[in-house]
Amino acid sequence: MRPSLLSQTPEELSEIMEGLGEPSYRGGQILEWLWQKRATSIEGMSNLPARLREHLKESFTLRSLSPAKSQGSRDSTRKFLFRLHDGRYIECVLIPASPALYGERSDRRTLCVSSQVGCAFGCKFCASGLDGFTRNLTADEIAGQVLLAEELSGEKVNNIVFMGMGEPLANLPQLLKALELITSPWGLGIGARHLTVSTSGLVPQIRKLADHPQQIRLAISLHGASNDVRDQIMPVNRKWPVDELFKALSYWTKRKNQKITLEYILIDGINADPAQARLLAQHAESLRAKVNLIPYNTVDGLKWKRPPEEECHAFRDILAARGIPATLRLEKGHDIDAACGQLRLKEEHAEKQDLS
Ligand code: SAH
Ligand code: SF4
Repeated sequence: MRPSLLSQTPEELSEIMEGLGEPSYRGGQILEWLWQKRATSIEGMSNLPARLREHLKESFTLRSLSPAKSQGSRDSTRKFLFRLHDGRYIECVLIPASPALYGERSDRRTLCVSSQVGCAFGCKFCASGLDGFTRNLTADEIAGQVLLAEELSGEKVNNIVFMGMGEPLANLPQLLKALELITSPWGLGIGARHLTVSTSGLVPQIRKLADHPQQIRLAISLHGASNDVRDQIMPVNRKWPVDELFKALSYWTKRKNQKITLEYILIDGINADPAQARLLAQHAESLRAKVNLIPYNTVDGLKWKRPPEEECHAFRDILAARGIPATLRLEKGHDIDAACGQLRLKEEHAEKQDLS
């Protein structure tokens, strides 16, 4: 498989141009075609000499994602299914600002991107891990989701969350490169403060990213405030239990001087009792973290369900009473399989049935 031109940095492009005996400003022209003019073919880069275009076509691909399906929802959240060059699928979701959270005039448009095909971490409630792990996405496949979602929606994305399929911190080298493509002025030019990486709690990688100079934000999929609850639903907790995780998070807050978000799915009969709420409040307080409560979205083939609404509110009220900033998100896109991994699983299973 030829590498993608999209994943080349200015330094790498200059080196390539030098190797070809081309003037170094050609690298700048190529970057402009890729990220500003949004070229969809190498042939169309009309200010490059024909011989250079020929060479580039032989050595590189341009876009490695193609649109397979999109679903809009009533609240205008849109979900895209993209096909990769090897026939695999990933998904991403474009979420408009919630007027309740950001005010009527907010122009915030968040894209939720995938970082891997499948996921090896096997959280019991999650569609992404159901069929196991297939492969890491490359940096151009990660950043390419933004280009394609903008193209298909006609809108400019100004906020990115790494909460789609996969565990971004298990794909750290490509994640770091994607962050460069996304934040650089020559790339997508989206500020690091508008990027949130979500992890199920990979302690060594959290520490590593804490030392990374970019001011990206961190969200933790906590979903259980004690080891006994977390062990039941997140196998990763056996490797890095709650106290080790929180030590790494406190290191993060010291290094970055910013608030972490604790994501907490409310699952009926598992983690939504007042005792977990009180423990969660203690953890959040020790870190000065924000909490996002998300009533569970049902997944085909999984037995879990969300608690009754009163129970969700009661959970939130326990946090609020202790002064913890907590939002209870009545999930956008509930009607379009917006929980990560669901649309892609349906597509892959449908293809398997077609073949059998
Ligand atoms: N692997 C990373 C990022 C992807 S998961 C992580 O776990 O943080 C992104 C978020 O979607 C996680 O908080 C995950 O727990 C949540 N999620 C997964 N399945 C869900 C479901 N059925 N309903 C609601 N949220 C879900
Ligand atoms: Fe993987 Fe995150 Fe889903 Fe867990 S919640 S299986 S880490 S994608």
